[in-house]
Amino acid sequence: MTFSRRDFVKTSVLGAVAAGVGAQAQDKGKDTSEEAQSGSRKRPIIVCANNGFNYLDDGFAFLKSGGDTLDAALRVVKGPEDDPNDDSVGLGGLPNEEGVVELDACCMHGPTRRAGSVGGVRNIKNVSLAAKAVMTHTGHVMLVGEGAERFAVAMGHPRENLLTEHSRKIWLLWKEFHSTDDWWGPGLADPHWQAPAAKPGDGKPQSELHPEIGREHIQNLQARAADLGIEPEHQLAAVRTVLFPPTGTIHCSALNEKGEISGCTTTSGLAFKLPGRCGDSPIIGAGCYTDQDVGSAGATGSGEENIKVAGAHTIIENMRHGMSPQEAGIDALKRIVRNYNGDMNKLRFLDMTYYILRKDGAYAGVSLWEGYSKGHPHKIAIHDGNRRAEVCVNLLKGYSQEFPPFPEIPEELKNSSEYMK
Ligand code: ASP
Repeated sequence: MTFSRRDFVKTSVLGAVAAGVGAQAQDKGKDTSEEAQSGSRKRPIIVCANNGFNYLDDGFAFLKSGGDTLDAALRVVKGPEDDPNDDSVGLGGLPNEEGVVELDACCMHGPTRRAGSVGGVRNIKNVSLAAKAVMTHTGHVMLVGEGAERFAVAMGHPRENLLTEHSRKIWLLWKEFHSTDDWWGPGLADPHWQAPAAKPGDGKPQSELHPEIGREHIQNLQARAADLGIEPEHQLAAVRTVLFPPTGTIHCSALNEKGEISGCTTTSGLAFKLPGRCGDSPIIGAGCYTDQDVGSAGATGSGEENIKVAGAHTIIENMRHGMSPQEAGIDALKRIVRNYNGDMNKLRFLDMTYYILRKDGAYAGVSLWEGYSKGHPHKIAIHDGNRRAEVCVNLLKGYSQEFPPFPEIPEELKNSSEYMK
């Protein structure tokens, strides 16, 4: 069944109320045609999460000079992997709950229809290249944990300490924040010690907690951040990370003039996760999926939710059956909403962004929410000869991590059960 734009708008109550749907079209002078929604349709083209923006020139030049599509995408994601200041990927990634950085990555090479993936890898910075090595140097598709690390070393990757001082201090702050019930943080003799009962908001329902988190916790946490040696200009960002353990990742898809297409995704995953947790990023079909006949898609955001809707694969299948990149992505987001029966009190604690590139060069960036907070909209970065970032088309109005206060549930969505019937 093909899904016309008209049907799509008609059947999507959320689509109708969300301020962002059509935002990309509006940016292009209110042209709401399918063409405008689907990007420029130029080839070659690379699309990626916005943290890859600074590395697009290099990847694009490589692609334009005849370089392989997967290698072009890998050049882009290697930038954030190598950057100690990007705390969502590679070196400097936020660690797991034990303070150990564990990375996930996968890739798909469209022209040869191959895939590679590594999950829960320690001590290896460029896991995207390790994923490619699984694809090219083994008969497997996925390696995890210690085996993946040993394989990467065998392939020439150095073992490195990936935990930067910056990420270590944020992790310690997170440990201490949760330490009214353990022995981390100031002890009984410390002037800053607080009795567990004095924990702000104790005994109150979750819904009443947010304003207090906004005041007392932020002040306490900021003081602790200072104690831990976090620089004043980074203290509030560290507090935010502790209150809302962030996700963060980079996906990149590249398409050349001949129509060959590939994609890859790499991440340090959810901050403070349980050791051994793999998110969507190393899962072929969730964090990334490329089909040479259709296109390529990838994801950043709440990995657990994306695995449950097999997001990237769902998007490719939607496009195979006639949806535009934007429609295909919005449909995958609606499946996430459906998994919570539209319960905004739960959905506001998760987020998801999809980066979608069709084989003809049409593209879309779609997100569940407008952004993490006001002024920080989700963006897709593009290079098709003109490097730029565009605001993603959002399904739901509002922000997943407003700080403080928590995002309000938009009035019109409070009774969104209608939509779910
Ligand atoms: N999806 C990644 C994960 O869940 C994190 C992210 O994209 O921010 O591991």
